[in-house]
Amino acid sequence: MSFDTLGLSPALLRALNEQGYTAPTPVQAEAIPLVLSGRDVMAGAQTGTGKTAAFSLPLLERLYPRGERKAETPRRVRALVLTPTRELALQVHDSMRAYGKYIRFSSAAIFGGVGMGGQVQALRRGAEIIVATPGRLIDHLDQRTLSLANIEVLVLDEADRMLDMGFLPALKKILAQLPKTRQNLFFSATYADEVKKLVNELLTDPVQVQI
Ligand code: AMP
Repeated sequence: MSFDTLGLSPALLRALNEQGYTAPTPVQAEAIPLVLSGRDVMAGAQTGTGKTAAFSLPLLERLYPRGERKAETPRRVRALVLTPTRELALQVHDSMRAYGKYIRFSSAAIFGGVGMGGQVQALRRGAEIIVATPGRLIDHLDQRTLSLANIEVLVLDEADRMLDMGFLPALKKILAQLPKTRQNLFFSATYADEVKKLVNELLTDPVQVQI
């Protein structure tokens, strides 16, 4: 199996080739076409399975079909990836930049433990994709340095860890600010009852990918 048949454009395939990725991992082979179809997806995938590319590649393809950014579109936040830790936020953001190397898009990593200033500047410059930890994202929402009103795709990465870390109230606050019509991608290594409850609240007719 190769990446060529999954529906990704040459801009992404070229970046993958440079990364040395020759074949999709199982979660990528299953999830990429489903995400491209616009469905809500819940995937059970551990770290190390290639889950980051499983959501990042089709997310980039959906936002920038054929690797192109519509010149006339005003810059606004179109996709939000939530992660439990700042390390993961940075890692996912770096991966997204690498996969999207041949697409002109703007993005920002938003996490705590550093000043707000640099992040506020990145947001002002017009970040379209945001990779964030819940706590700091709420700081920005409270300060109105960003709006989530135009989110088209929401990704919850390592959702079980986010709940374990006590982020449910923060998540609820964030979710309340998202538009009702959007695509939701939910990645979790485990599906305990509280994770399933969140899935039921969050996803619309999801398709399940279990690796
Ligand atoms: P993740 O599970 O997203 O943290 O990815 C684990 C590691 O696998 C990362 O270092 C990725 O760069 C790498 N990786 C992801 N997908 C592929 C692939 N299709 N081929 C080779 N390496 C990959």
